[in-house]
Amino acid sequence: MSLLDRHRAVMPAWMPVYYGDDALEIVSGSGRRVTDANGRSYLDFFGGVLTTMIGYDIAEISDAVRAQVATGVAHTSTLYLIRRQVELAEKIARVSGIPDARVFFTNSGSEANESALLFATNARRSNQILAIKSGYHGRTFATMAVTGHRSWSSSSLSPLVVHWLAAPDRLRGRMAGMSDGDLLDAAVDDLREVLATVTAGDVAGLIAEPIQGVGGFVSGPDGLLGAYRKVLAEHGILLIADEVQTGWGRTGDHFWGHQAHGVVPDLITFAKGIGNGFALGGVVGRAEIMNAVPATSFSTFGGNPVSAAAGNAVLDYVLSHDLQENARRVGALLIEGLRNLPYGILADVRGRGLMIGLEFVRSGTTEPDPAVTTRVFDLCRRNGLLVGKGGLYGNVLRMGPPLTLTEPEAREGLAILTDAIATADAESR
Ligand code: PLP
Repeated sequence: MSLLDRHRAVMPAWMPVYYGDDALEIVSGSGRRVTDANGRSYLDFFGGVLTTMIGYDIAEISDAVRAQVATGVAHTSTLYLIRRQVELAEKIARVSGIPDARVFFTNSGSEANESALLFATNARRSNQILAIKSGYHGRTFATMAVTGHRSWSSSSLSPLVVHWLAAPDRLRGRMAGMSDGDLLDAAVDDLREVLATVTAGDVAGLIAEPIQGVGGFVSGPDGLLGAYRKVLAEHGILLIADEVQTGWGRTGDHFWGHQAHGVVPDLITFAKGIGNGFALGGVVGRAEIMNAVPATSFSTFGGNPVSAAAGNAVLDYVLSHDLQENARRVGALLIEGLRNLPYGILADVRGRGLMIGLEFVRSGTTEPDPAVTTRVFDLCRRNGLLVGKGGLYGNVLRMGPPLTLTEPEAREGLAILTDAIATADAESR
């Protein structure tokens, strides 16, 4: 029996695998490349799922993890002091920009958001949360409730009362075609209307991704979260920035995605890239909110010595190699190359730094075309490039390569993408 058949026999039916009957097993990696079980090499423009933020087999990270494992202590639980965890918390508090910050570690982004929702609802003594349509925040009970995609959400069984704000989508929906200024005004009007009409006034917080990840790398104009924040402040409503995809310099212009919005959130959640593959997530936020949970609470494995060793090495690497600047420079090269492509199926090239989305439509329309998207995705893989898929309608190719991506690698990926899009475009006519 093949590995895929064995997978299907023991996994739940809803577990996704890319490439269907042709699913890949990745067996090794180096730099920005991985090798599959058949010995084929691929350039990875998705970095796991934006998790392999530095790259594969990076000596500084492997050495830090090996050194921790060599002590014989992989885990002691958070009941004891963990030097690497404290060091990492100090660094994250420093880069957070939040005064008097506290840090709570988890193993994943879902737990990080679940925790942030717990802190905010307890601090404000309210279970009402504002969330943005098309957003994705995780697969636990509360995080699925604030996830605005039918296919990823379970909001009908919500433990929270969730109020939805319109997605800041320039291509479709009620904000389609708006200028940045009009979109900002419409978003603020929407927030005011929701607060006035469907809430009981005691909302705990707004949770928002600075750039929607799973939603297809949709972002409102710069300043959107800042504009929301002014209204939220009138009501004492907290702002939770979900930086699980956008943090640590990925967006190039800024260290955090929310900085493009001129705002300092009350709580920031993080995961994915900070462990470069080791399970690590968490929340950094204002002490008075982080301290609001009445019961003693910790995550058994959150910030464990091995993940914390990896996290320290990752953050040191990002800062000492100025990967934010690399993301800005190499990302700009990619975005420019993609924006020059003259194909009718490619309706939008968007993103920042090394977080880039391509939206595909039926040529000459704005109708989402998931089939053509899958075709481009498959052609890329066939030619040695791994990318991601997403978007509310499954018609966005997503790229989030390691922040160490070099210019030659960017050009190599661009050539494969160009070829794939040209082929899919010709076939679609
Ligand atoms: N938040 C965002 C923005 C994400 O993209 C994800 C995962 O894709 C999560 C939260 C959940 O993180 P995890 O899958 O580590 O639980």
